[in-house]
Amino acid sequence: MGRLNVMLKPAADSCNMSCEYCYYSYHDDHAEKNGGQKQSEDKHQEDKWMSAEMLENTVQKSLDFAAAGGFDCNFIFQGGEPALRSLDFYRKAVKFQKNHSIDGAGAVSNFIQTNGLELDEDWADFLASEDFLAGISLDGLPGLHDRYRRSAAGNPTHKRVRENLNMLADRGVEFNILTVINDRTVQQPAQNYRYLRDLGAEYLQFIRYVPEAADFTREKTAPTPEDYGYFLIKLFSLWKEDLERALAGGGEREFTNIRYFENLLLIMMGLSPGPCEMKKSCQAQLVIEADGSVYPCDYYVRDSWRLGSICGDDLEEIMNSPLMKEFLRSSQQLPSQCNNCRWLELCRGGCRYRRSSIKPDNSAGAGYFCSSFRHFFESCGMELRKLASRLERS
Ligand code: SF4
Ligand code: SF4
Repeated sequence: MGRLNVMLKPAADSCNMSCEYCYYSYHDDHAEKNGGQKQSEDKHQEDKWMSAEMLENTVQKSLDFAAAGGFDCNFIFQGGEPALRSLDFYRKAVKFQKNHSIDGAGAVSNFIQTNGLELDEDWADFLASEDFLAGISLDGLPGLHDRYRRSAAGNPTHKRVRENLNMLADRGVEFNILTVINDRTVQQPAQNYRYLRDLGAEYLQFIRYVPEAADFTREKTAPTPEDYGYFLIKLFSLWKEDLERALAGGGEREFTNIRYFENLLLIMMGLSPGPCEMKKSCQAQLVIEADGSVYPCDYYVRDSWRLGSICGDDLEEIMNSPLMKEFLRSSQQLPSQCNNCRWLELCRGGCRYRRSSIKPDNSAGAGYFCSSFRHFFESCGMELRKLASRLERS
């Protein structure tokens, strides 16, 4: 059964943190959706937040569409910071899901991506009882995390996020950890991996910070392609060591999966990877902004890619619109370097947005980290293949 991913922005782009590398803090297209002001200029524009009526509309139309197509339906709450909304908003979301559920339809699941700062015991109990999967943004060791992930007032946030994460674990909430690889975290793969691994997450997800054309002056905050290649190689060897131990019966608990490596193994085993950037084309995600506007991807919240409104338009028509088809079709055009690359089957050229927007002149080409991936695949490709064969046999 396929899956419909519906991404909602309950608190629009509002946030209680000012991370150095925040995408929304300098991206004018998102700022426009937030009432024309950049996030840093107005943190709490509550009048721009998603209404209960909009939420119900989104839930009902998504469930109807998923049921008609035979899809599971995954609601993803993100931001800005979605936990700025009170729990009442999320209780309503669950109530609407129950009220509008359809007999025989696919499974419904919920995921919230949060910086973890606002969570408290009530949140933890709610997330546990309603089976929400939580994604917590944590860059690892205190010094690494606090370097760039500061509160809106400029204070360190690690201590509080870590305490809240422990509370989630104690109360049985399933969580993943999302870590940004920047110029600092890239330097400490071993210490940081061990620290993150031992926190009890289901998955670790490492996202490289990519300097963007929108503000290339932040290039210094990003890892260099060379450093990132070495980081991947080291991380893979640490993860593989733990996997080998787990496979030999050395204790499942010690093993925490890393989403990227797991998906590479899936590709090698002929299975479909999860993340859109590892598929051969963009996927039709539904991004629902607080005002009901629908876009095909969070990176393409732009007037030119506005597919319609969840209130006024039919979801079936939105999903089958010429603009959505163009979004998917155009993502299949890879740069010639990728088409001629021996690693294409594994790398797949990466995310189309990242591929095309990171150069100061906005020119398309293989991504900024192309040389990192080549280095990684050349060093570890054989090991990955051996691992995939072994897993297939077992
Ligand atoms: S642009 Fe990137 S994130 Fe968006 S759908 Fe395509 S691959 Fe996924
Ligand atoms: S390694 Fe570089 S050239 Fe090869 S597929 Fe990936 S981005 Fe394209």
